[in-house]
Amino acid sequence: MGFFKKIEKVEKSEEPLEESGSELLELRKAVESAKVPESVSAIAQKELERLEKMDPGLPEYVIGLNYLEFVVSLPWQNLSDDQLDFGHAEKILETQHHGLKHVKERILEYLAVRTLCSRRDFHILVVDDEEIARTNLEYVLKKEGYQVTAAANGQDALNALQKGEFELILTDLKMEKMDGMQLLEAAKHVSPTTEIVMITGYATVSSAVDALKKGAAHYLPKPIDLEELRSTVGQIREKKRSIQITKSPILCFSGPPGTGKTSIGRSIAEALGRRFVRISLAGLRDEAELRGHRRTYVGSMPGRIITEIRRVGIRNPVFMLDEIDKIGQDFRGDPASVFLEILDPEQNSRFMDHYLDMPFDLSSVLFIATANVMERLPEPLLDRLEVIRFPGYTEEEKRQISKEYLIPRQVREHGLRHGEIEFTDGAVSRVIWDYTLEAGLRGLEREIATICRKLAKIRLQTSGEWQKAVVDEQLVERLLGPRKYTHETADGGARLGVTTGLVWTEFGGEIISVEATLMKGSQQLILTGSLGSVIRESAQTALSFVRSHARDFAIDPDFFEGNDIHIHLPAGAVPKDGPSAGVTIAMALISLLTGRPARRNVALSGELTLSGMILPVSGIREKLLAAQRARVGRVIFPQGNKIDVDTLEEGATKGMEIVLASDVGSILDVVLAGKE
Ligand code: ADP
Repeated sequence: MGFFKKIEKVEKSEEPLEESGSELLELRKAVESAKVPESVSAIAQKELERLEKMDPGLPEYVIGLNYLEFVVSLPWQNLSDDQLDFGHAEKILETQHHGLKHVKERILEYLAVRTLCSRRDFHILVVDDEEIARTNLEYVLKKEGYQVTAAANGQDALNALQKGEFELILTDLKMEKMDGMQLLEAAKHVSPTTEIVMITGYATVSSAVDALKKGAAHYLPKPIDLEELRSTVGQIREKKRSIQITKSPILCFSGPPGTGKTSIGRSIAEALGRRFVRISLAGLRDEAELRGHRRTYVGSMPGRIITEIRRVGIRNPVFMLDEIDKIGQDFRGDPASVFLEILDPEQNSRFMDHYLDMPFDLSSVLFIATANVMERLPEPLLDRLEVIRFPGYTEEEKRQISKEYLIPRQVREHGLRHGEIEFTDGAVSRVIWDYTLEAGLRGLEREIATICRKLAKIRLQTSGEWQKAVVDEQLVERLLGPRKYTHETADGGARLGVTTGLVWTEFGGEIISVEATLMKGSQQLILTGSLGSVIRESAQTALSFVRSHARDFAIDPDFFEGNDIHIHLPAGAVPKDGPSAGVTIAMALISLLTGRPARRNVALSGELTLSGMILPVSGIREKLLAAQRARVGRVIFPQGNKIDVDTLEEGATKGMEIVLASDVGSILDVVLAGKE
């Protein structure tokens, strides 16, 4: 029920009180029948009573109504059962995704740990000096499937605790020798993770509160209500299980867009039999977007986390926090601490949304984060994340995935039947080469969708005669129009002062050009192309290196006198940074100053030192794939990256010549052609 709608209703209504009365009546019913914990129910009742006394014309009345509706609609106790069939999970991951071997392996390990943790027996120690009470408890709990050991007094219980592992102690308070309170204190030393529930008579409620202060998880009044016993033990078991499970680091999928991060997240949810939700954090500017606004003004809203939980209707979904590296630069508050609180199972069992204004237990949620660039994340957050890298796909993988997954899915989603459309291998390659230029599959899937959409229209127009459409290279061009990408880097010849570089960005590896020119001036180095400070320093280093080693390259040592040098990195509007363009810049300068054109179909990546050494860089596989996409067949990488090159799979190196170099001198003839 929205606020504005409600106001309108009140103004128009001739009998506002009566109508609001029936509304409250309904709400009362909802509050009374809602499956909510007692503490929540008490707060809801209080709020309801406040509303019943309030003038319905007041804005606070509507705020209160909306709030109560929200509270009772939350899935406070609604959990879906985990389906922990390991074989089933393995099959889902395997059949829904091609390749991604190490990703699948890591996820299966993660699920294996979950399965084992949840199967572990829950061992309870029952302590009571009254034999009948002890035996009764033992009987009831065993019947619930728990493993139970009984002890007749505190001392026996401690002995048992020293010998074995217990998840929970259920102890009477009043006992001879050592009472429950003493046992509680001693047990906290011997086994700090064991939870303790105190059983007290009515007369000793104040000691029960004392027990809670000293670290007991709960207390149960005597005579024990069996339902309450079952639910208390069940909740403790559930909490311990989820803490145990989620204690492992939070998974964070990192990689370029379109490499299957979301899709694997969905498969994990399916494998576990859980619901899946996803929110994108790109551009998030305010903590309140996540945690909600305080309920002090009209229009205040709950945060996105709790809103999504309400929408899925269970409190243990697989929850994907997409693009946590893209939180707005101007974020108010400390993003790391907000996320740590949301993600840490010790803290998130009492997650506070400002609107809801009471703790909600998020500890059963399985959070998965995704990020394109891990380096952007603050250190404390990185420490808590286990990063799983999603690599870009090789051309061969893209072809396979298109045939096995993307095409059948798009054909189906466009109302066509399997067998009505067939793509030739050439057509798929054509779409990949000429219509996409990306590490992932988003553009490719979009182009395939466009083809299917256009064919669906043709299919309807030619209803009778349609048998089967074979999509070949010509048809691709007819349907998608002229090619979107040309491979001018690879096809272009050698050019003076222009070299080809490989860089790593959030979209995967990319191919860039570096242009250098010399003109009359006053010894200035002009740098353009949205360059960050690191890349600017690389350019300075490259220039100093060339000036100090001019003679080695047969360059006039005074070339800078009376001149300016301008280095530009197109595309000018795309921000660029990082040290790996150093060698590419140096080679552009050497080409310019020696008059030897640089071969554009040789791509370079490496950090340069002042003495001309080439230092290793990161993202070798992604850079190699970028070269492959641009049809550049020869790549120069630092010698220090040999280990990365040696571990590349065949698909990534296919058709590529990789030259490893440790200093600039050794690559002159590979990059530079003869003097013009
Ligand atoms: P991301 O979340 O990394 O941006 P998506 O999960 O949205 O990427 O993937 C884009 C598309 O490519 C989806 O349709 C997905 O199903 C498909 N896809 C990605 N990787 C694979 C794979 N290994 N096998 C099959 N389909 C894949």
